[in-house]
Amino acid sequence: MAKKKYSNKINKIRSFALALIFIGFVVMYGAIFFRESQLLVLIFITLGLLCIIGSTVVYGWIGLLSTRAVQVVCPNCGKHTKVLGRVDMCMYCNEPLTLDPNLEGKEFDEAYNHPKK
Ligand SMILES: [Zn+2]
Repeated sequence: MAKKKYSNKINKIRSFALALIFIGFVVMYGAIFFRESQLLVLIFITLGLLCIIGSTVVYGWIGLLSTRAVQVVCPNCGKHTKVLGRVDMCMYCNEPLTLDPNLEGKEFDEAYNHPKK
């Protein structure tokens, strides 16, 4: 079963927030190369700050999601992990987990989180 494609949603969002911080700093650092133009420096620093602010917002969002996520004990590795939505992966071993008994035993598919209308 090719399950390594998916990862825990909270972890995924967290790495996204971390990436945003890095991008923000890199963009702000880029302003050094445009010291001759005050306008460009201003644009780069603003963009960098926006990325960092965005990251802070995403981190706040993770906090919110975490309170809504269901804490379960992973049957595979025995650690406490958080499940978001109907199906999610274990944060530690990427074991597919489901809160819906109807989906138990079925092959993992992220599409279960987006029910068709
Ligand atoms: Zn696990």
